[in-house]
Amino acid sequence: MSDPFDLLLAGGTILDPACGRRQEMDAGVSGGRITAIQPSLPRNSAQRVVNARGCYVTPGLIDFHIHSYWGVNPYGFDADLVCVGSGVTTAIDAGSSGPVNFPGFERFIARQSRTRMLALVCVAQHGVLSSPGELEDLRFANPDGAARTVRDHSDVAVGIKVRLQRSSVGNNGRQALRLAIQAGEASRSPVMVHIGDTAVSMEEIVDTLRPGDVVTHCFTPLKPGIVDEAGRLRPAVRRAHERGVLFDVGHATRHLAFDLVRRAMGDGLLPDIISSDLHGRMSTSNPVVDLPTTMTKFLTLGMSLEQVAAACTINPARAIGWQDRLGSLEIGREADLTVFELVDGPVSLRDSLGAELTAKERIAVRWTIRRGEVFQGSR
Ligand SMILES: [Zn+2]
Repeated sequence: MSDPFDLLLAGGTILDPACGRRQEMDAGVSGGRITAIQPSLPRNSAQRVVNARGCYVTPGLIDFHIHSYWGVNPYGFDADLVCVGSGVTTAIDAGSSGPVNFPGFERFIARQSRTRMLALVCVAQHGVLSSPGELEDLRFANPDGAARTVRDHSDVAVGIKVRLQRSSVGNNGRQALRLAIQAGEASRSPVMVHIGDTAVSMEEIVDTLRPGDVVTHCFTPLKPGIVDEAGRLRPAVRRAHERGVLFDVGHATRHLAFDLVRRAMGDGLLPDIISSDLHGRMSTSNPVVDLPTTMTKFLTLGMSLEQVAAACTINPARAIGWQDRLGSLEIGREADLTVFELVDGPVSLRDSLGAELTAKERIAVRWTIRRGEVFQGSR
């Protein structure tokens, strides 16, 4: 008689913010799907048992902002092994491809990665560029092509990306934002807007965004930020958040200041989504490290474990309208799970300005399960 389960995650605490569950339970996986979550499943009913005692078991982590178009885009790196080694089962490439070169991303990255790779399609036709910037010349804008790509490839292309920093758009920030919204409307998909060092005011940016659009690099120290000169959350940002505009961390090398996180959280704004923005142009001394380290920073800054887990599971799934496929541990779903431990510190963490934060405990990924396959955590 064959075993009912290919894999049994035994004795962990199931933490599934989508349904508010935090409870010690076993999880059974067969045929690459989650087939049972129960207080106790027989240990001899599985081909392989992973002892998750002392660990949390969450839906597979979603890194909402990375750059994985290796070998093609100047920001790309080979993200696949980094992702499954750090609990990330789904990663969203933020604009490395535009309508011209998205087919290559789909064929050479999305189809060949262990990690599920999705993409936000850049409103500029070749994706984000470094120098010159992708929309310094608006002849490179292609909102119709970007919208068509999202409509025609909705299994991989899930939204639109635009960067508004001066080095990307020169003096075209206002037009770039409007062209991106136009593409978002034509494709009925969210727009992610990169802020920091923009000529357009924060008020104009957030007032232009629709509910469901995403501000990335929300705690960047580059001006203008979501916190004003007096250190208070801008009223326009609060209003935008209340009507459903989402705020995403997008850490990267330059875009996280602990002080701004404290001020914004003190004024009631928690990030909806926590993401790494790992890319291929970082020095080895970059402060990001990986997604679990970024999550640990927000845990230390005052978010609860449930809030941090939601910001890397159900919240990003909802942001792309995939909540029926990703971000929770429902029976029958593809078996994407992350098993992590809270390891006692102290551990010292840095932000983009070199400020230090001492974490009492850190999130350490032990195993990543992607479509039923088990990968060992790397830290
Ligand atoms: Zn980025």
